[in-house]
Amino acid sequence: MVTTLPVPEESTLPTAPAPNTAQGPPVLHTEALVKRYLLGEVEVMALRGVDFRVNRGEFVAIMGPSGSGKSTLLHLLGGLDRPSSGEVILAGERLSTLSDDALSQVRRRRIGFIFQAFNLLPTLTAGENVLLPILIDGRDAAPYQEKLTTLLGMVGMAERQHHKPDQLSGGQQQRIAIARALITEPEIVLADEPTGNLDSKSGSNVLAMLRRICDQMQATIVMVTHDPRAASFADRVVFLKDGQIVDQCPNQRDDQDLVRIAQRLAMLESD
Ligand code: ADP
Ligand code: MG
Repeated sequence: MVTTLPVPEESTLPTAPAPNTAQGPPVLHTEALVKRYLLGEVEVMALRGVDFRVNRGEFVAIMGPSGSGKSTLLHLLGGLDRPSSGEVILAGERLSTLSDDALSQVRRRRIGFIFQAFNLLPTLTAGENVLLPILIDGRDAAPYQEKLTTLLGMVGMAERQHHKPDQLSGGQQQRIAIARALITEPEIVLADEPTGNLDSKSGSNVLAMLRRICDQMQATIVMVTHDPRAASFADRVVFLKDGQIVDQCPNQRDDQDLVRIAQRLAMLESD
């Protein structure tokens, strides 16, 4: 006689969409990352041994009180600055082994940057701004026209290709900056407070766009933010305090994420 095992009740419950979990080796990781700054005679320890990793296709938010080292970490991840000790490893390549020229080539070709202040060049059109990473790299932009059209469509800016930045709203400028960050098909996109200069509606728009880029283009994104709502769009939130990772939590993509993140940040800010 065959006994039918009862099906566990949990299996019939609807589950929240699984966060992007990543397989295989990380796209980017750090080993015991330390950054010291000298301010006159005073040494500031901005990072005190950070082991951070981001997997392919993941969207990670970095949060923490002001001065906790978020921007310093993002700058080191992007090769904009070098650590005092420890390592940043991009797809297996140790950035410390690279000359300054090789490092700037890594920044131009393999990393996309999105800044709080958009940083578009005012004399160039929106389309030319998107192509800028190719031009700065000394390459011919002609083969990238199709990609440009696709990216402008994706960020909802197809009609604005020939506008100058001062003819665009803040939200529209940031969407152009997102397209610019993607033109080289970078291995990772780094964003420092990308919604910091935007009203909440344009901010939500930009965050939803980053989420879609991650889901549909398998882009990997690391975003620094002090806004819990922004962090709730990520797959995982890493909390920094005094230059160290003190906590991490995966988002469930439900309406409790925002509450959890805001509470955790408030605790770190009050300690
Ligand atoms: P966050 O982005 O979390 O606000 P930062 O990474 O900007 O923090 O700064 C971390 C710490 O390092 C702070 O104490 C800050 O004052 C210090 N710091 C950052 N940049 C420099 C610098 N260029 N020179 C000296 N100290 C710095
Ligand atoms: Mg900062």
